Amino acid sequence: MIVTVLGSGTCVPSIRRSSCSIMLEVNKARLLFDSGPGTMRRLLRTNTTIFDVDYIFYSHFHPDHTAELVPFLFATKYPDMNQRQTVLTIVAGGGFEDFFAGLKTVYGKWIELDPGLVEIIVMSNQSADLRRLKDFTVRSAPVDHNPESIAYRITGSGGHSVVYSGDTDTSENLIALSKDADLLICESALPDDYRIKGHLTPSLAGDIATRAGVRKLVLTHFYPECDQTDIELECRKTYDGPLVLAEDLMRIEVG
Ligand SMILES: [Zn+2]
Ligand SMILES: [Zn+2]
Repeated sequence: MIVTVLGSGTCVPSIRRSSCSIMLEVNKARLLFDSGPGTMRRLLRTNTTIFDVDYIFYSHFHPDHTAELVPFLFATKYPDMNQRQTVLTIVAGGGFEDFFAGLKTVYGKWIELDPGLVEIIVMSNQSADLRRLKDFTVRSAPVDHNPESIAYRITGSGGHSVVYSGDTDTSENLIALSKDADLLICESALPDDYRIKGHLTPSLAGDIATRAGVRKLVLTHFYPECDQTDIELECRKTYDGPLVLAEDLMRIEVG
């Protein structure tokens, strides 16, 4: 499994940090976790086109996590030989169908692909859920941010697993979902002194990683305040395992 950070930032415009998106390669499948503004251009920097993406997993519907979905779908209409030939599967928590219907109310057929080219999987936002797909298994659990918010755990055929928190406050569900994972990609939106409800800080993310016993922790989703703070030091108050502070286009191999 290979993780590539496409966007380690937030809603705040930043040259250094694009809005939220992570790519995960599992066997031959390419998965995106969230697609904030700028995701397609970051993808191109990894020599990946939109047609190479097989799955998009949405953690929740805030624009810094979802806004590139519309241009992503519209771009597949470009009348060239390179149109999408394979199914795009979109996975999200309960409420996604209404969210998507709302987008279609605005954009209509501009974001509708040919029949059979988009598949939607809605996972529970009320309790833990599981799907066995072709190249991997996905588990999800509700987390504490928006009503639709869920975190994901992907397990490949070799047994290695990667967890993506999405946005969340401190969460027993996230700890349970992350138990003994090889990698936890965890939001750490603001430094400890700037803590706000619905988000984590470096020491809270570290506490989750320690209690879950993860093998490596990646902190991401950094507001600008994080870049003026020693967030590694803050995370070390609660976690002493392998630690990575995400930067755009960083690549992390798992297993
Ligand atoms: Zn959010
Ligand atoms: Zn966010």
